[in-house]
Amino acid sequence: MDPATDFSTVQFTAELHRAARLIADSDYVVAMTGAGMSVESGIPPFRGTNGLWTKYGTPSMDGYRQFRADPAGYWDRQINEQIDEHILELRESLRNARPHAGHFAMVKLVERGFIKSVITQNIDGLDVRAGMGDSLIEIHGNRSRLRCIGCSKRTDLNDFVPLFVPDPCDECGQPVKFDAVMFGEPIVPEVMAAAREEIDRADCVVAIGTSATVRPASGLLWVARHRSKGDLKNGRTQREDAKLIEINPNPTKLSSICDVVVRTTAKAGVTALLDAVEQMRAARRDGRRPSVSTSSRLEPSA
Ligand SMILES: [Zn+2]
Repeated sequence: MDPATDFSTVQFTAELHRAARLIADSDYVVAMTGAGMSVESGIPPFRGTNGLWTKYGTPSMDGYRQFRADPAGYWDRQINEQIDEHILELRESLRNARPHAGHFAMVKLVERGFIKSVITQNIDGLDVRAGMGDSLIEIHGNRSRLRCIGCSKRTDLNDFVPLFVPDPCDECGQPVKFDAVMFGEPIVPEVMAAAREEIDRADCVVAIGTSATVRPASGLLWVARHRSKGDLKNGRTQREDAKLIEINPNPTKLSSICDVVVRTTAKAGVTALLDAVEQMRAARRDGRRPSVSTSSRLEPSA
């Protein structure tokens, strides 16, 4: 076997084992997912080598202001496809995307109590389609829904391509837009508050496929990591920094502050993590020394 491959396999197994142990030892684990989760369902990211903006150029960053100025014009352009090429490609990829094994494994991690909630930065709705229920917070909204800009009432569009101009809100009469947050648009306050509440409760946060560059969502990861010791919420007598686990094939701004880094893609990482935590739970239940795989004897003793 190639020594380099061998080493990376051993290291991967050891890191996975450490991640599983951290999750098993934590009371309240929250996951945050980013574009890396969607890429493996065929949805291109905005940034990076194969990113839509790399291909088509960076779009105007004041989309929300433009929408507010002329909602009817916005919808007219959507319906008549007089929109940026990167949006045309994005919505076609959203239409064709299906949840992958990582999405389904994440649902199981939640159902089996290993992870309490999932904050996703993705707007594709794939977590919902994989079966994720109320434990999901779509911090940037969901592109297959519509939302009133006045009262935030949401309605299902069940598609990513609108066929007609949506009526104004039947509650308050304000214009309706995609639920997905536009550039220059604040995150819906209740959604941000819900995400913050989960992060504040968490004693372990798993960041999956996120480059941790998009604020304010990624800022929550730093909030989890650097807590003020005076914060006595949720009945805790002492607030400790949450443990951080990163699953990402590439180094990110977050990597250096993580307790465990698993260098792999979202799909491989989440499915392997599900196996690892289940094995650890079973081993602990049976009173065995937890082991994740045959190479676990090579894990660091720390
Ligand atoms: Zn409304």
